[in-house]
Amino acid sequence: MTDTTPQATFADLGLIPTLIERLEELEYRQPTPVQSHVIPHILDGRDIVGGANTGSGKTAAFALPILQKILSQGASHPRGGNFVSHLILVPTRELASQVANSVKSYSYHLRDKVKTIAVFGGVSVNPQMLALRGGCDIVVATPGRLLDLVSSNAIKLEQVQTLVLDEADRMLSLGFTEELHKILALLPQKKQTLLFSATFPEKVTSLAQNLLHDALDIQLQSAEDSTVVQRVFSVNKGQKTAVLAHLIKQHQWRQTLIFVNAKNACNHLAQKLTKRGITAQVFHGDQGQGARTRVLEEFKSGEIHVLIATDIAARGLDIEKLPVVINFDLPRSPADYMHRIGRSGRAGEVGLGLSLIDCDDYHHFNVIEKKNKFKLEREQVEGFEVDDAQSEACVVPVKPRAKPAGTGKKKKKRKQGDL
Ligand code: AMP
Repeated sequence: MTDTTPQATFADLGLIPTLIERLEELEYRQPTPVQSHVIPHILDGRDIVGGANTGSGKTAAFALPILQKILSQGASHPRGGNFVSHLILVPTRELASQVANSVKSYSYHLRDKVKTIAVFGGVSVNPQMLALRGGCDIVVATPGRLLDLVSSNAIKLEQVQTLVLDEADRMLSLGFTEELHKILALLPQKKQTLLFSATFPEKVTSLAQNLLHDALDIQLQSAEDSTVVQRVFSVNKGQKTAVLAHLIKQHQWRQTLIFVNAKNACNHLAQKLTKRGITAQVFHGDQGQGARTRVLEEFKSGEIHVLIATDIAARGLDIEKLPVVINFDLPRSPADYMHRIGRSGRAGEVGLGLSLIDCDDYHHFNVIEKKNKFKLEREQVEGFEVDDAQSEACVVPVKPRAKPAGTGKKKKKRKQGDL
């Protein structure tokens, strides 16, 4: 039987020497737990639901067996006629580019044998159309652009052998339902389906069952294995910016990624930090793709020290040795909390996930803790201690007093996923 313990080597998992040699060049000395657990089963053709902590090597876990499948088919694998053989769907443009680059890196010495293309919106469609001519082995795509390319016959999905949903819970969430259904309707019935994410909320797991055939559910998320240290600071209302600036100056982190909940809040906070002597760049969905790509590249290379982003940066992005993520605003979804802090502490590095909460956030942070099954001590920042009045309101859960009928305030409707 194949050894699937975390101590297994890549060879034990059934990977061929050509791929292993490349992994040695990349200094992947040993498979990560998710790679050990899923690679043999993917090679056996099983459908998989794979859950593992952020930054734990999920990309290689699905990419390596796909590459092996392509190589084992030799020249017989379907190409031509704009067909694609293996389709990886991701939620953001940047992730499409990153995942495609990882696949290209794993198949670097097989460039003439494996054709991998990233397709995503916000950039000209023509180069993508040209690249897809004659078919393609692996396409990494965001759903909207993929459907555009399908409708102009630049890509055909009828011969897809493997479907991967990376950040699967996000791909199965409301924002992508319509596009995903259209794509699924174009795929053949018989295919291998692989779902990966660090979070699988219950309602998503049941949705996923419709996509899968006799799937193995391998969930390896563990708080003990997480290398992200989490801390939460209670602050006075109206003092978050001052506390944030203080923390950045005090700790002199090499780089800081700050999350807010709205595009305009990125610019607003950047201006406020500038006034306090901190230069920050922004990353959000209202920027042109050119600016988005440039900012992310500069952040990844360390040129940008402080980046303020919406949740388009929350999923999957691999920023090497990012020391700290700060939730200036709490994310609406508890799953997104895990993804945000998971930009730090990747590939076994120690990371830090900080959250600033004022009274308005207190209840929501409790929900985030409960859903993600952890509990943190509320800390205070020296010099910015919470006023007694606010502290009381925060610490003592106030029972809402019964109001006479008709006098209650209408609950404010939250804006849906505006990144
Ligand atoms: P991922 O979760 O796929 O984004 O991977 C997170 C980081 O871990 C990336 O920088 C990968 O290059 C790196 N990585 C993935 N697998 C391994 C491995 N077996 N050994 C060392 N680094 C790895």
